[in-house]
Amino acid sequence: MTDPEELAARVRDGDVRIHELEDHADYDTAAEARRLLVERETGADLETVGDYSFPAEQAEPNIENMIGAAQVPMGVVGPVPVDGGAATGDHYLPLATTEGALLASVNRGLAVIRAAGGADARVTKNGMTRAPVFRVDGVAEAAETVEWVEDNLETLREAAESTTSHGELLDVEPYVVGDSVYLRFAYDTKDAMGMNMATIATGEACEVVEAETPASLVALSGNLCSDKKPAAINAVEGRGRSVTADVVIPGELVEERLHTTADAIAEANTRKNLIGSAKAGSLGFNAHAANVVGAAFLATGQDEAQVVEGANTITTMDTREREDGTTDLYASVSLASLEVGTVGGGTKLPTQAEALEILGLRGGGDPPGSNADALAEIIAVGALAGELSLLGALSSRHLASAHEDLGR
Ligand code: NAP
Repeated sequence: MTDPEELAARVRDGDVRIHELEDHADYDTAAEARRLLVERETGADLETVGDYSFPAEQAEPNIENMIGAAQVPMGVVGPVPVDGGAATGDHYLPLATTEGALLASVNRGLAVIRAAGGADARVTKNGMTRAPVFRVDGVAEAAETVEWVEDNLETLREAAESTTSHGELLDVEPYVVGDSVYLRFAYDTKDAMGMNMATIATGEACEVVEAETPASLVALSGNLCSDKKPAAINAVEGRGRSVTADVVIPGELVEERLHTTADAIAEANTRKNLIGSAKAGSLGFNAHAANVVGAAFLATGQDEAQVVEGANTITTMDTREREDGTTDLYASVSLASLEVGTVGGGTKLPTQAEALEILGLRGGGDPPGSNADALAEIIAVGALAGELSLLGALSSRHLASAHEDLGR
């Protein structure tokens, strides 16, 4: 058996490079050797980092230079009834976070939604995008390229779909800036978040574009995609799943459970989430949707950098008058670009796969795409609960005292 001490010494002496340890030992021994090396060089104690519960080899597609695992506490909120296009029935939502009070707050919102009979949720648009950038000579060649793309969608579809048995090319939207041409490819990636799938498929289609037009590929991603960066195009056109959840909460429930009124919550939403966000030039017209998106992403193995796009959420809160003169609260969240999957990426890792099992959404759905749709709908209802609870706390001015009571 290879000795991790000896391996660490060989890296220190320059005989073996740190990323080559798996060539000399099994994955767990390689991780141990790296820990020893880092402990010696930094003085850090990595006992807990090294105390992980799955074979290191299982994480091979997900990490390089592994030393162990970052353990983030996970809890559940719910159950909450969701009436979705794909999700139905009661669901517990697993959330992983280090922010105390977050689950308590979301759970309070879910309890209100449950008492109101549950939330409706629907995925209204689905398309994972990749937008390569091409160089052309000038505007004449740009126009020629755009015209060819518009006339030959079927040819591009054939090339792109030759690389995947699940992905379907939905559309290619051209954009021209001087001598640069961007083609924004959008795919139905079914139950995969789809960034690898879309990138590989687009690479194949780009070869056809280069063969048939004057355009030369400069980069497979030209940032008009737009992945992991704040971008209005995602907030407007959507990316991944565009999903909306809503609920009507009887006025008496707002008063009983949230200790405020529908009018006060609606006013807080307008002045904070709508006017305040507009004044700030924000793309996120919400209170903290990214909190639920981020915690659900960590728990279920999503790509955490895509929380950026998940924050492109608009929250609306309006009053609705009943015939008996009382006032109900209509509440909604619309997440324009929620990028989620139940296959691929980090979803296969053990704790993440178990978290997806809590939701009954591990692996591919029947029909394909239905599991990822359901995950998007349940996360949207979780985000709605978070918005209700926080706006309720703000409008009843209980926010500071709630944090104080929980000692956080
Ligand atoms: P993936 O792990 O690369 O691929 C998932 C694969 O699962 C699909 O390609 C598909 O194979 C297969 N599959 C089986 N059942 C399926 C079903 N029901 N629905 C859909 N696909 C099914 O995952 P990905 O979602 O495409 O990409 C996510 C990964 O990309 C994450 O690890 C993320 O961190 C990373 N990422 C990559 C880029 C990039 O530019 N490459 C950028 C950002 C993030 P077939 O295609 O053969 O059908």
